[in-house]
Amino acid sequence: MSLARILSRTQLGLEAPLVQVELHVGPGLPGFTIVGLPAPVVRESRERVRAALLNSGYQFPAGRITVNLAPVELSKQGGRFDLPIALGVLIASGQLCTPQRAFECYGELGLAGELRPVSGLFLAALHAGQDGHALLVPAANAGEVALSAHAAAWGAATLREAVSLLAGQPADAAMRVLPSGNGALGGAPTPPALADVVGQWQAKRALIIAAAGGHSLLMVGPPGSGKSMLAARLPALLPPLSQAEALEVAGIASVSGLQLDARCWTRRPFRAPHHTASAHAIVGGGPLIHPGEISLAHRGVLFLDELPEFDRRVLESLREPLETGSITIARARSRLALPAQFQLVAAMNPCACGYLGDSIQACRCTPAGIERYRQRLSGPLLDRVDIRIDVPRLAVGELLHAAVGGGAAAREADPGAQVQAARERRLKASGELSARLSAPQLRQCCALSAVSERLLRRSCQQLGLSGRGVHRLLALGRTIADLAGSEPIEPPHLAEAIQLRRPLL
Ligand SMILES: [Zn+2]
Repeated sequence: MSLARILSRTQLGLEAPLVQVELHVGPGLPGFTIVGLPAPVVRESRERVRAALLNSGYQFPAGRITVNLAPVELSKQGGRFDLPIALGVLIASGQLCTPQRAFECYGELGLAGELRPVSGLFLAALHAGQDGHALLVPAANAGEVALSAHAAAWGAATLREAVSLLAGQPADAAMRVLPSGNGALGGAPTPPALADVVGQWQAKRALIIAAAGGHSLLMVGPPGSGKSMLAARLPALLPPLSQAEALEVAGIASVSGLQLDARCWTRRPFRAPHHTASAHAIVGGGPLIHPGEISLAHRGVLFLDELPEFDRRVLESLREPLETGSITIARARSRLALPAQFQLVAAMNPCACGYLGDSIQACRCTPAGIERYRQRLSGPLLDRVDIRIDVPRLAVGELLHAAVGGGAAAREADPGAQVQAARERRLKASGELSARLSAPQLRQCCALSAVSERLLRRSCQQLGLSGRGVHRLLALGRTIADLAGSEPIEPPHLAEAIQLRRPLL
């Protein structure tokens, strides 16, 4: 046979379209051509495949070899096509028979014939399972393929092992990838809990409200006041991911080359990119539309420390996902939406030096400097942040009180259970958390008493709230009432919401 066809998949955003690797060995001057929109790294595959075949003891055919990666309009990246190309050479040159069942093959080849891991195989395995295809992957990728619960998958460490598997040799059983259980949290490191935090009652209360309603949160305070430490405690307050959500989150992580951990399967992601990260790294993009940090934080928490230091374009691009839960990325040939339903937690200093309003250290900024610092955050972005609180440094007295074992931490009700009850209440009544309710939905579930109505009107005038501002305030009031187990939004609930939505200093 001089023609071979092997299945594989490329990756585009969170899709894994099927690619047919067609290979023909024909007469003519020796040559090796790859067509079908391959990226340079795929073209270099020729050299890796040739060396790997020779070093594994196979013959490299003398004729003219043409590889076509179909369909041609899909762009293809990475070394994942090395293995299908090498197997195609062996089949087309009569050194291997066409396997009986439909196999999808993946893997980058080393020059000595070893198979190296590639990214995104969890997602490919999910699709292969749906299409009823068997899988042949690098042994190093076996862990994530096992998590996908694919029933017919094998992992090979070398090209020779891959060939023996397709030839149906008895060593197959040892290479079988057995679906592993996921969802078992045994042995997983425990996430930091809110109860460990000393003092900071207002911030802790704000975190509970944010967790209960899915609200975004901005903490303003001097360096060392514990803003990052508080933010890291939000995931522990959130309920675990459902099985369907966990699969979605794992798919995004796999495409980004992150290690999947079965122990943390249902844990919500917590991403904290540095402010120097590029727009591409945060928002996503590239020829294959790679997910960025905002998609890696999907169904979890995105923590942006030093918020005003982020690139203005990055900050403005957060508006779309905060509104819709997804981000649209346009490229020359494609336009794709990636999921990005994250909960934003941001932190910033009150001014450039960090000490405006601090009780210990004096601020060295000029009024104009403070104004410039604040202006790095646009009004429309701040409008989308539901909760804004000050996180001052703890007074010495508070610290001492905690050190001698005081504090009300032990007496406090379990905040996770409170959050869970409030979320269930809202999901049952409205089908969504209050932060995600549209204005008409909110009007339906936010009956205000006459006193609450007056309070709302007065604060709207005093704070100069926009239409969106009123909407966000009501959503916050709804969550606080849910935490209290109250159907109507009472004046104390609304008053607390107004406290949590103060304009910056
Ligand atoms: Zn200052």
